[in-house]
Amino acid sequence: MPILENIQIKLDFEAVRRRLHLKRDRDLNSVQDLVDTAQPLVEARVLYKVSYIEEKLDDGVVVEGLQFISNVLRKNLEHAERVFPFVITIGKKIGEKLDTCNDLLEKFYLDTIGNVALNQVRLALKGHLKQQYAIEKTAFMAPGSLPNWPIEQQKPLFRLLGDVQASIGVELTDSLLMLPAKSVSGIYFPTETSFFSCQLCPRERCDSRKAKYSLKLAEAYGIKK
Ligand code: SF4
Repeated sequence: MPILENIQIKLDFEAVRRRLHLKRDRDLNSVQDLVDTAQPLVEARVLYKVSYIEEKLDDGVVVEGLQFISNVLRKNLEHAERVFPFVITIGKKIGEKLDTCNDLLEKFYLDTIGNVALNQVRLALKGHLKQQYAIEKTAFMAPGSLPNWPIEQQKPLFRLLGDVQASIGVELTDSLLMLPAKSVSGIYFPTETSFFSCQLCPRERCDSRKAKYSLKLAEAYGIKK
């Protein structure tokens, strides 16, 4: 099972600034200092697998004997045969730094920087998959990102990926949280049209939103009547 350990990301200061909604003309030195502090703390590790869909159910798919139940995932995999389950982490050092930070604003900034780093690692995996497997376009879904694919589906996902803790140090707790917290799991799949779970998520305030909510798309996926 491929493990990518040598992913080097340079923290994207502009992405951090945008996520923090800070204008370019203000003094950003303290943010730059935090980005510089966070950079050596990022320990990116990725575990993924090349898997094949064995069966397409009405409301989900079966991969290596494990059921993944979600109408949205099922619709997204309508034309797919091969999928790429994954877990990504940036390690625990940024989390440890957050635990010792008493300044609330600094803590918020550092937390956001960690999220940007995690997103950059996910994009690095996406680039790797596209190049390695000659895929033109990909999208991904994460268990728990939509009520239609609940967090409980972390269990079959982790089972599919084997001993994730031994491989890249990410543990799935009994309450289905990942430790280190700055980790993300999901399934990448080939697609012809762009898809972001955010398009089906009506949450109003979310700094991690990647695409606008679309009522029309939610209706097309049958999750908004
Ligand atoms: S809008 Fe936010 S909460 Fe909703 S799916 Fe996107 S990232 Fe998740």
